[in-house]
Amino acid sequence: MSGSFVESIVKAITTVTDGPCVLHEPVFRGRELKYVTECIETGWVSSVGSYVDRIEQDLSAYTGAKHVVATVNGTSALHVALVVAGVKPADEVIVPALSFVATANAVTYCGATPHFVDVETETMGMDADQLLSHLEGTLESVSGQWRNRTTGSRVAAIVPMHTFGHPCDIEGIVEIGQKYQIPVVEDAAESLGSFRNGQHTGTFAQMGVLSFNGNKIVTSGGGGAILTNDSVLAKRLKHLTTTAKVSHRWEYVHDQAGFNYRMPNLNAALACAQLEQLEGFIRVKRETAERYSRAFAAIDGVSLVHEPNNCMSNYWLNAIRLDDTTESFRNEILAATNDSGVMTRPCWTPINRLPMYQSCYTCNLDNTDTLFEQLINIPSGVGISQASE
Ligand SMILES: *Cc1c(COP(=O)(O)O)cnc(C)c1O
Repeated sequence: MSGSFVESIVKAITTVTDGPCVLHEPVFRGRELKYVTECIETGWVSSVGSYVDRIEQDLSAYTGAKHVVATVNGTSALHVALVVAGVKPADEVIVPALSFVATANAVTYCGATPHFVDVETETMGMDADQLLSHLEGTLESVSGQWRNRTTGSRVAAIVPMHTFGHPCDIEGIVEIGQKYQIPVVEDAAESLGSFRNGQHTGTFAQMGVLSFNGNKIVTSGGGGAILTNDSVLAKRLKHLTTTAKVSHRWEYVHDQAGFNYRMPNLNAALACAQLEQLEGFIRVKRETAERYSRAFAAIDGVSLVHEPNNCMSNYWLNAIRLDDTTESFRNEILAATNDSGVMTRPCWTPINRLPMYQSCYTCNLDNTDTLFEQLINIPSGVGISQASE
C-alpha cells in the first residue's frame, strides 16, 4: 500500500481534530457538579432519590416513550428487558454479529444462546429483508412456537442494534417480529438522540435500551434505561430491577428472585445534567461529521459513514469505510494513526468469532466480515470541534 494514502488519512483526521486526540471522552460543562453535590449534601446518593425519577421523566419527554426505567448500566437494561420479553434458558435470541459484546452477553445471562445474523452495509445494522428470508428458511412452527429447525431451540426474541448511532431498518424488523409474534428488543445503547422517520430509536419495538456509559453521547458514569410504551411491561421492569420487593411499610417481602439493577441517584444526577446538554452535543457531533466528510471527500478509496436515508443520526462515533477489504491494509492505517497520537480503533471483532460464542448458530455473515475489514472509528468526542474553533 502506498505510504501517501496512509499519510493523507492521518492528515484528514488531524485537520478536524487539530492534532493528537482520543477516540471519545466525556464533557462536563453544565450543572453536573451542582446536581451531584446536592445528592451528597442531602444524603440521597443511592437507589432512591428525586434524580432517578427525574431522569426517567426527562428521557420519556425527550424520546416520546411512555415509560422509562433507569438501570445501573445498559447491559443490565438489556438483560432485564430480555427476561421480561420472555426469554428462557435454552432459548435462542437473534442478534447481529456486528455489535458490542454486551448484546450477546445479555442473552447468555438469561441462559439462552445468541443466534447470529448479518447486517446490511448501509446502516451497519440488522438487514430486514435478509432476516425475513432467513426466518422463512430456518424456523418451523412446533406446537405454537417458532423453533430453529436445525438446533430445535425456540427463537424467543430479536435484538437489532443501531450501530454507532445510525438507525437500522427498525420498522422492517418490528414488522417481521409482529408477523412471527416474536418480541423485538432494540439495543439503542449508542443512539440516544437518533431518529428514524422522526421517531426516536428505542421506541419502535416492545422495549428499547439506552446506555450512559462513560463513552456514550451522554454519561452518568455508568447507567442505562429501558424504554417502553406498554404499562404492564413497565411495571414488571421496575419490579424486577428493584429486587422484586413488594411495597409495604416495613416488611421485606420479595415475590421473585429480582435484580439489584436500579440506577443510583448519584448517577441519575449526572445523567440529568448531561441530558440538558444533549441538543448541543448532537449539534457539535453533526458538525464534526460534516467536517470529516469534507476532509475525506478529497481522498480516493475511503469515505465517511453517513446517516441512512430518512434518519437523523446523533453521529455518536464517526467511522471511515475503506474500499479495500484486507485486514492488513486496515491495520496499517490503525498503526499509523495511533503512532501519531490520533486514537483510532477497528470495529468490534464479530461476536461469533469470540471464544465463548464460536459454537452458536450463525448464518451467512458476508457483510459483517467485509465491514469488519473496512471500518475504522475515528475521534468523535464533543470536545473536538471546540478545540479547533
Ligand atoms: C455500550 C453498549 C452496551 C452496554 O452498555 P453498558 O452501559 O456499557 O453496559 C450495549 N450494547 C451496545 C451496542 C453498546 O454500545
